[in-house]
Amino acid sequence: MNKKLEELKTRLMEIGDLNGAGGVLAWDQSTYMPQGGGPARGRQMATLAMLAQEKQVDPAIGKLLDDLRSYEESLPFEDDDASLIRVARRDYERSTRLPPEFVARLNAHSSETYMLWAEARPANDFKKVLPNLEKTLDLSREMANYFPGYEHIADPLIDFADYGMKAASVRKLFADLRAAQVPIVQAITSQAPADDSCLRKHFPDAEQMAFCEEVVRAIGYDFQRGRIDKTHHPFTAGFSVGDVRITTRVREDYLGECLFSNIHEAGHALYEQGVDAKYDGLPLQGGTSAGVHESQSRLWENIVGRSRGFWEFFYPKLQKAFPDQLKGVSLEAFYRAINKVERSLIRTDADEVTYNLHVMLRFEFELAMLEGSLAVRDLPEAWRERFKADLGIVPPDDKDGCMQDVHWFGGVIGGVFQGYTLGNVIGAQFYATALKAHPGIPGEIRQGKFEALHGWLIENVYRHGRKFTAPELVQRVTSSDVTIEPYIQYLRTKYGELYKL
Ligand code: ZN
Repeated sequence: MNKKLEELKTRLMEIGDLNGAGGVLAWDQSTYMPQGGGPARGRQMATLAMLAQEKQVDPAIGKLLDDLRSYEESLPFEDDDASLIRVARRDYERSTRLPPEFVARLNAHSSETYMLWAEARPANDFKKVLPNLEKTLDLSREMANYFPGYEHIADPLIDFADYGMKAASVRKLFADLRAAQVPIVQAITSQAPADDSCLRKHFPDAEQMAFCEEVVRAIGYDFQRGRIDKTHHPFTAGFSVGDVRITTRVREDYLGECLFSNIHEAGHALYEQGVDAKYDGLPLQGGTSAGVHESQSRLWENIVGRSRGFWEFFYPKLQKAFPDQLKGVSLEAFYRAINKVERSLIRTDADEVTYNLHVMLRFEFELAMLEGSLAVRDLPEAWRERFKADLGIVPPDDKDGCMQDVHWFGGVIGGVFQGYTLGNVIGAQFYATALKAHPGIPGEIRQGKFEALHGWLIENVYRHGRKFTAPELVQRVTSSDVTIEPYIQYLRTKYGELYKL
């Protein structure tokens, strides 16, 4: 058995290495690569991805997994070997179900659609992408049907990002969340908007970067195993437990951009830096799902990074970094500015309170399109109607309506949005559980200390990597299924106080 397990690990590690090398190339492409490197880089990344895919579907892996089944079954569920075999089997089955011919067809269609979208969006021309988007829907259904036995056709697609979550349970969760959240949004947006002009002055790049570095270092981001670089669309890239990098962008006319995107990405990175080093290079390395990953970026960015206690410690430092810009701006005024709530058109710019409404409508449209109850050609109108009902405004065009996100135009329809809102929900569940274990956490945050919270997250969430699925992990950590109560409680407490609701 040991020899077979060692052989499996060797093969899996080779796949991990190829993917890690591809990740470095992709990181470089988004940060430092000169423009001229584009064509060769695309080819190099495709070659690495192809080699990794060939190794991933090698029948030898299937044989080893079969041979190791009795060994796996003799071990406790949580055992490292059993978990490695279980997760490797899931990855293997997922990649062998999709015929290579289909993957090639989908990839070709996606890149064509992406290029069309890049032209059609600025021109506000939904009709131009409509035939392609209809075909995307067909391909998405075809993809789901390579995984027969589902309850809902979206389930196999959801599995790619949030394995184990089901359309039915997420739909129920989101319906409850929407019912609780729409009245909060209405109550806040019926008041005069908060004044965030203190964030919209001139803040020089170098000072912003220095301050952000200080903040992410304080919350526990390890610069011996990471670094910060600039890019257009911030992301986190983990190549190994010892090398998890974050990227950021700076706007000199708006302080919120660099600051909160850094804390957000650092949250993703704390998760990946916290995975047990013995999983390095193997399928247990990394985050377990989109939702759990986003739970960490959102927990650090919003629950911690937009809290009053956090700024009781950091605001005097921020004022020292920007003495002229923040002169006469009280902590309270700053706190209100960073928690401004408003009806807005664009998901990625949305505040903490309205954000989920943007995500949930997309998720429900995905289900409706896959079910066939919403035709792709009717999407723009459905979008306007739902937007008016939830957010009280009507998008003036499709460019900033149903065409604003790249997801459907560069991939499949189904399973690509729910992770963002699951992240908000799960993040609040984890935080509430951490507070029960360590009631002193808010007091520590007020002193700029994060060890208790960070340590609790490493112990309960991070170190497990992909060992548990999101539903398993949430159950294990919180003794409950995924539930909206802690999140709604969090919103009501924080914004109830801010807006006297
Ligand atoms: Zn994120």
